[in-house]
Amino acid sequence: MAGYLAELGPEDEVIFPAYTFVSTVLAFASRGIKPVLVDVQPDTFNIDTRLIEEKITNRTRAIVTINYNGVSCDYTEIRRICDSYGLFLVEDNAHGLGGVSHAGALGTFGDISVTSFHETKNVSCGEGGAITLNDPALSERAEILRDKGTNRSKFFRGEVDKYNWVDWGSSWVISDLLAEVLAHQLDKLDTILRRRREIWQEYYQSLGDWGHEQGVMLPPSPALQPNTAHVFFLVLPRPDLQEEFIKHMRLGGVHSVVHYQSIAESPMGKRLGLSGGQFPNAERGHSHLVRIPIFNSMTKSEVNRVIEQAQEFRVR
Ligand SMILES: *Cc1c(COP(=O)(O)O)cnc(C)c1O
Repeated sequence: MAGYLAELGPEDEVIFPAYTFVSTVLAFASRGIKPVLVDVQPDTFNIDTRLIEEKITNRTRAIVTINYNGVSCDYTEIRRICDSYGLFLVEDNAHGLGGVSHAGALGTFGDISVTSFHETKNVSCGEGGAITLNDPALSERAEILRDKGTNRSKFFRGEVDKYNWVDWGSSWVISDLLAEVLAHQLDKLDTILRRRREIWQEYYQSLGDWGHEQGVMLPPSPALQPNTAHVFFLVLPRPDLQEEFIKHMRLGGVHSVVHYQSIAESPMGKRLGLSGGQFPNAERGHSHLVRIPIFNSMTKSEVNRVIEQAQEFRVR
């Protein structure tokens, strides 16, 4: 929907972080735009703001950011760039619902911000998402786009006698059944975040010394970079240790996973003419980073088991 609302087309270029989930890029690439990638920061894995301007051409129309783990990007600087080049800002806040930065709530910085309620997210109804808009004119069009390009909502409000096909769009309305599940989840947002942050703190405190000894990097301190405890990641010092760590955790009954192949390295990225090898931090994320389990119904003993198993891992 953001791709339609930003009125982007085949001649246009859009800037993305090289390290993100497919959905971020697919929403725009499927409308024919050319993705232009920017590497991420080595600690937060958010877009490296200092590298954005060198990628801007006279075809650039928008910047899409993600708040990895609900840590805010530098929106003061990103907004300055958008204003000085006349670019649209789309904020993918799939990790950041309920998150904050010194500048305000995540999901309020973009001209368009989006979040996801996929089963893997902090707040979930299985599949779904939401878009938040700062401009009322966009919200009028969004209402039509989400309902197969019809003005059916206007009809239900008695603003028109019958409804018609008036615009592009698709069927993006969440089902009533899922909306009911989601409403309850949203009511529990504070509780969910509180519990996730408790577990996150446990990991952060208990694994700090071990990480230091073994050369394993932990996420940035939440005192400096507040997060939503969506993921707890460890960055191993060498790529061969990624698989070794996962195997070691599995022996203790702990499931840990990797994520985000750099968009440029993916088969589809290659089909789109992107080339890898230029985004060292994104590529390091894919080859060195491991996520350990975090979910709000974890018990204290489950959390301890994860910690103890990780602490037994030795870098050789
Ligand atoms: C999960 C996720 C999405 C959205 O996923 P959908 O399955 O399309 O809802 C988008 N961006 C990021 C960074 C994500 O992690």
